[in-house]
Amino acid sequence: MKINTLLGARAPEELGRTLIHEHVLIGYPGWFMDNRMPPFIRAEALDRVVDAFQALHAYGVKTVVDPCPMDLGRDVEFNAEVSQRTGINLICTTGGYFEAQGIPFTLDHLEVEAIVEIFVREIEDGIGKSGIKAGLIKIATGDGKVSAYERKLLTAGARAARLTGVRLLSHTENCTCGHDQIDIVTGEDVAPRHLLVGHCCGKDDHAYQVSLAQRGAYVGFDRFGIEIFNSDAARMKNVQQMIDAGFRDQVLVSHDTVNCWLGGVPGIGSPDQVKDIVPNWKLTHLFENIFPRLREMGVRAEDLDHILTENPRRYFAGL
Ligand SMILES: [Zn+2]
Repeated sequence: MKINTLLGARAPEELGRTLIHEHVLIGYPGWFMDNRMPPFIRAEALDRVVDAFQALHAYGVKTVVDPCPMDLGRDVEFNAEVSQRTGINLICTTGGYFEAQGIPFTLDHLEVEAIVEIFVREIEDGIGKSGIKAGLIKIATGDGKVSAYERKLLTAGARAARLTGVRLLSHTENCTCGHDQIDIVTGEDVAPRHLLVGHCCGKDDHAYQVSLAQRGAYVGFDRFGIEIFNSDAARMKNVQQMIDAGFRDQVLVSHDTVNCWLGGVPGIGSPDQVKDIVPNWKLTHLFENIFPRLREMGVRAEDLDHILTENPRRYFAGL
């Protein structure tokens, strides 16, 4: 099966080295209300993002997944320009964010089947008038408990995945609700291997990470560089533990970078303060710092290449 990307439909084996969770642009709900923040100047923002993505060529990255849900300022035409100018193939998503940080009003008032139809249209017909088709479905849960709204969106996402054959990728908070996500998805007859449970590196919790893999899901170590939640040292140790425990095939890595902010950065302030607080939160951190350190720890180069190339291929192929 082919995957919808911003440079056209691609077979899984054409994706090559892939970062599975990076954001071109994010705007949290109501971002425009904080008038202390720098204005969004599209052309300048685009130049900065293009520079950041160009840097990935040096490391052989061909594909980047941008799992921006519909309600976080998603701008697929901005993404398409980034793809065209850099040659880095982006994949964009449909789906809604978790209740506390998304824009739940509209979808809250719709029945689950209406939401399924919305997601399927974004995959099969395209997003808005752009003609750009979503290549993945984002699902998301809050901290410790799946709300009724989130359950409805997860159910709709799983049904849309079953109808279209598109994969699911998730957001979780604080290493919670991964098992609820698998329960809801498999309850709709979608195989657990069609789900990537995201942000499983939010805590030093090998038991949780391995328990998700044992059920067949892909496990995201996708926030390298965000050391305000967990240390990269713990993340590296946990990746090595997954390999040692025989779950190398289900590990996916990324940074969850945000390369352009509409408005401010929750918990940090203005976008230019990010560099001081999380200096390694950038698209090349894995290649510059994490992979060399993992090699020193004894992880084989072929394991790292497998995680970067083979696992995304298998995830999209449904293997
Ligand atoms: Zn993200």
